[in-house]
Amino acid sequence: MIGRALLLRCPRCGGRGIWRSWFKIKHACPTCGLVLERGESEDYWLGAYMFNLVAAELVSVATAVVIIVALWPHVPWNFVWALSVVLAIVMPVLFFPFARDLWLAFDLMFRPPDAK
Ligand SMILES: [Zn+2]
Repeated sequence: MIGRALLLRCPRCGGRGIWRSWFKIKHACPTCGLVLERGESEDYWLGAYMFNLVAAELVSVATAVVIIVALWPHVPWNFVWALSVVLAIVMPVLFFPFARDLWLAFDLMFRPPDAK
């Protein structure tokens, strides 16, 4: 399910086309009919947003650390700083559908759709 989510497919059947756009998921999977908007409320996606933010910030920090270690002691501090800021802003946007799909996969693991 994690692998399917990373490919932005339906976590249950691996079907394509569950995304209306980069930021909008369809109501249900066109292949298996799994309801993708499982949320009982808006809170449902809070976990995905949190997950997205943490992952994105980790990537930007990790990138900065790798550059600093690789170029030590001649670190281009202005470049590292600018890159970290750009990554911190861009990553959550790029990572958004992945975070949402992953969140759905985790949810399906802990709350299988058949066992309601
Ligand atoms: Zn499906």
